[in-house]
Amino acid sequence: MRVDLKHAIRMLVREVAIVEESEGDRMIGHLPFPKVLKLVRYVKAAWRHARGPAWSRKGLMARDGHKCGYCGGKADTVDHIVPTSAGGRSTWLNTVAACGRCNSKKGARSPELSKMAIRHRIYAPTWWEIGIVN
Ligand SMILES: [Zn+2]
Repeated sequence: MRVDLKHAIRMLVREVAIVEESEGDRMIGHLPFPKVLKLVRYVKAAWRHARGPAWSRKGLMARDGHKCGYCGGKADTVDHIVPTSAGGRSTWLNTVAACGRCNSKKGARSPELSKMAIRHRIYAPTWWEIGIVN
């Protein structure tokens, strides 16, 4: 991947990349003039993580369209895919909107154990997808 110099410097400053190969003795300030950068973090994931909305019940309902992830009915509860009793936390990837009936049917079992398939896509949404609800 080729990036322009400005982008390269930004990556160095943000410490997501280090200079692997520099261009002779040329320096930019105290930094060697970069020729080859090596990414030290998975930038895209970090970037998305930093910018995405924090989990909220309202946000989850918006992501799942207020529909139960198990039967498609009206959702009014939050179901934890890995149950809180098993250490599951309220995160985008561990929760799905559910109706009271399915939630109690599933109980503290994981969907694999209770043989209930989740029909929603489980993902961390962007602000744009859920609107500003926090
Ligand atoms: Zn349901």
